[in-house]
This record gives sequence, structure tokens and C-alpha cells, in this order.
Amino acid sequence: MALFGRDKICGVVAASTARGALRQLEVALRRTRTVELRLDWLPNDAEISKFLGILGIRKLAKGATFIATCRRRAARGRYAGTIGKQLLHLSNAIRAGCAWYDLEIESAAECPSELLDALLGEGRHLASAHFFRSLPGNLNRVVRELSRHQPDAIKIASQSDTLAEARALLRTARNRRNVVAVPMGEVALPARILALRDNSALAYAPVENATAPGQVPLADLVEVYRAPQISSRTRVHGLIGNPVAHSLSPHLHNAGFRARRIDAVYLPFLVRNLRDFLAAIGPMKIAGFSITIPHKQAILRHLDGCDPLARAIGAVNTVVVRANGKLYGYNTDYVGVLRTLEHRMPLANSRVLILGAGGAARAVAFALAQSGASVCITARRPHKAEELAGAAHGQAVPCSRLRREFFDAIVNTTPVGMHPHTNESPLTTRELNCRLLFDTIYHPRVTRLMQLARRRGIETVSGIEMFVAQGTAQWEIWTGERAPMVAMRAAVEDALARESQGKTAAQK
Ligand code: NAP
Repeated sequence: MALFGRDKICGVVAASTARGALRQLEVALRRTRTVELRLDWLPNDAEISKFLGILGIRKLAKGATFIATCRRRAARGRYAGTIGKQLLHLSNAIRAGCAWYDLEIESAAECPSELLDALLGEGRHLASAHFFRSLPGNLNRVVRELSRHQPDAIKIASQSDTLAEARALLRTARNRRNVVAVPMGEVALPARILALRDNSALAYAPVENATAPGQVPLADLVEVYRAPQISSRTRVHGLIGNPVAHSLSPHLHNAGFRARRIDAVYLPFLVRNLRDFLAAIGPMKIAGFSITIPHKQAILRHLDGCDPLARAIGAVNTVVVRANGKLYGYNTDYVGVLRTLEHRMPLANSRVLILGAGGAARAVAFALAQSGASVCITARRPHKAEELAGAAHGQAVPCSRLRREFFDAIVNTTPVGMHPHTNESPLTTRELNCRLLFDTIYHPRVTRLMQLARRRGIETVSGIEMFVAQGTAQWEIWTGERAPMVAMRAAVEDALARESQGKTAAQK
């Protein structure tokens, strides 16, 4: 049995009312049997006592482990009372059935061990230290200080601005049974998810309210990332970019791994510094990754080899890390465009207009040109359109001519109309002269441009098609198996539907 009981994922209950905390507790217990109760989130002593009173009366869930925390403001918690009252609440929590209490180093420093023993002796002691600004220079000293009262376990949570810092923090858990290491911050999010693989005794996840930066909600940690099943054998994949928080790629890829029962996980890496990520590939055992804005071009100079097509396009969105650590790049946006369009229209000898001349436009232009289409490009900066037209043997078309031109298809590769600017369109109705309109944007599913096209009776295709196609092509490159398209697509549709439901609820 592990130190904290059966489950090493710890759901964090943090609510502003006793009733809310009980509701969160019920939700948490559906996913894990280890739960932290953040008593300091309750607004006052009376509400804490009320919550613990109800907790004591109710029979606590069988086989569950509870950790009571009542962190004071001095340690960036919310409890405003004295240390004496803090200890009293923790003592009551133990009597109500909590096996563990978490006491921060700031309070422990002011309490003699005998007092802690007398008040909290029946509970198991988790001694914690939090560093919200930056990683402390001497982690061994922190470990020594936390161990002074001979607790049953220690916890170090620290802001980690790079993956190198997050890895240094996780190393404190190596070869020790009783260390909880919590890298905080958005950059450290993948390290947080992999903490259990790296021997941390627990990984925290909020049930509802985030209590620290870079947390992954409990439901996602268990269902999307399948963190309880991650082991040293699990292959790690991910998306690198900035921003990545709202990417649907984790839903897409993890659904594929789950459907095919492949022991692999796909994580979002917020990468501000490409070199920090590249240095983490070996130590974090990363087997492959997707690349999005702004690293699609920059990654090229770090590759050991590259698919000739990706090199011609000048952008890589997929990297395989070979067994010898060498990096090999591909561009599956190209495949995504073809899989999306080729069964909808004959591409050879067709005339297609591309709006925009950025990274996605390059992949679209090369894919269409290779399939025999005549490519036209319109961009807000005419020299960009001409540059891409030259590379893809196409033609630049000024915006002013669009009302008088007709195309077999128009492909929008600009972000105009993307969430949250959903009322915008890169073309007016009169400029929409085509049989088929493909908008590469997938959020929202139906853009303003698509609405305008539908009103003119034009067939429309959403960016979700290309998103799924480019993603499943990546997945197949990494796994060597056929992608479970239906499951992967359904996961993306679900995530999009949940997101818009959440937004509608928030707007009400
Ligand atoms: P990018 O390299 O930044 O290119 C964006 C292009 O749009 C540039 O030509 C840019 O012009 C132009 N643009 C930006 N804002 C504009 C505006 N307000 N009016 C007119 N043109 C504007 O980005 P990217 O990687 O190509 O991605 C572009 C879009 O493609 C994304 O928003 C995404 O929705 C979509 N995409 C979809 C998929 C998929 O799988 N469905 C895959 C990749 C991309 P300037 O150069 O003048 O800034």
C-alpha cells in the first residue's frame, strides 16, 4: 500500500461554504480515494467547525484517505486566524476522520514538537513548504528543514518557470518514499502530470477551484491524461507552443491512445524557451511532439533530419524522437489539407484561392500545388502573397479583384473569425465566389465566413476536419498503427461542445 493509501492522485476540495465543500468531496470520491480538504478556503472558524461537524457525523467513505489543510495567510493560504486556532481545526479534523494533516513550515517553526504531538499526535504529519515566486537555490536545505519535526512525509511546492527547474524539484523525490514534489506554474504543467512517474508520493488536482498556478482539474487528470496509469514505461508525447492551454490536441491524441490501449500520454508544453524544452526531451523521455505557433519554423534548425516536403514548406508540425535521441521532422498540415479536400472535389486543374500567407497557408499551398491545382493567394501584405505564390508556382491576387473572380474553392488560413472574435469575417458576401469554402479555423465550428457562404448556397468545410486529419496523421507516425479516427474525432467534438456549454452557462 502506498504511503497515502490506494490512490496517489489527491483531489483538492476547496470551497467557500461547508455545503460546497461536501458537494466537491462527493465529486472527488468518484475519481480518487485520496482527498485534501482545504479548510482555509472556508470563510471563518464557524464554517470550518460546521464542515468538520458534518464530516464527523457522516460516515467517511470507506478506504478513503483525507488530508486536512488550514494554511495560514503567511504561507499564502487563506486562513486569517491564529496558529492556535489553526492547530485546533486540524485537531478537530483528525477527530472527524482525517488520517493526515498538512502543516506549513511557517506555522511549524513556531510550535514546539511536544505541542504538535499533544494536539495532533493521532494524525500523520505532512510537513509542507511553498515557494510561489521561484525555486529555492538549495533544495536539500529545504528537505532538511522540513524533516526537523520528523514528519511522516514532506511536501515541497514551488513555482518552476522552466522544465529544468521542475525536473530539479522532482529529483527531491527520487529514491525517497515520503516526498511530495509539486512543480507549480504553466510551464511546469507536464512535469506536474508526470510527478508520480518521477516518484512523488502524491499529485494534486483541484475538484473545482484551482488552488495553485498550473493545476490540471481532477477530471482531466484522471480521464484525459489517465495519470493514475502513467508509469516509467509510458511513452510521453506532447504539443509545444505558446499559447497551448486551449489546444484540443491533448483530447485528440489521448483519446487515440485510450482507444487502442497504448501506454502513452500526450501533454501540453507551454514553451517560451525552445532550448529548455529540447534539453528536457531526454530526461523526460519524450518520444515525439507536435509543434504550433510560434515554433513551427524555429524548430527546423534543431532537427537532425527532415521530410523533404516539410523542408520545402518551411515548417514542421511533427517531430519524432528516434531511439538514439535524434529528432526527425514532418509536416502533417499538408496531409490534413489533402485528406480534407480530395474526396470533396477534384483537385487537379481546379482553381483555389488561399486567404493568408502564413504557416498554414504554406502547407495548404504546397499540398494543392502538388495535387495539380492552380493556387491563388490573397494576403493583407501583398508582398507576402507574392512570395508564397512564387514558392508554390501560383499567382498572387489583390483583394480588390476578388469580387470579379470565381474559384472552385476558397480556403481561409487567416485567424479572422476565430474565437473570441467570432463576428468577424475575412471576406464579404460579394467576395465569396466559389463552389466550396474551407475555413481552417475550428473554434468556433461554424465561423461567420461559413455562415455567409452557406447563405449563398456554397458547400462549407470546417477546420475541425483538417485538425483531426493532421492530428491523426501525427498519431500514426508516432505509433505506426492506424488511428482510431472515430474515437479521436468524438473526443474533439465532445471537448468543443463542453467548452461552448461552459461558455453559455457562464454567460447566463
Ligand atoms: P500565421 O503563420 O500567423 O499566419 C496567419 C496569416 O493570417 C498571415 O498571413 C497573417 O498576415 C494573416 N492575418 C492575421 N490576421 C489577419 C487579419 N486581421 N486580416 C488579414 N489577414 C490576417 O498562423 P498559421 O499557423 O498559419 O495559422 C493561421 C490559422 O490557421 C489559425 O488561426 C488556425 O485557426 C488555422 N489552422 C488550422 C489548422 C487545422 O488543423 N485546422 C492547422 C493550422 C492552422 P500577416 O503575415 O500580415 O500577419
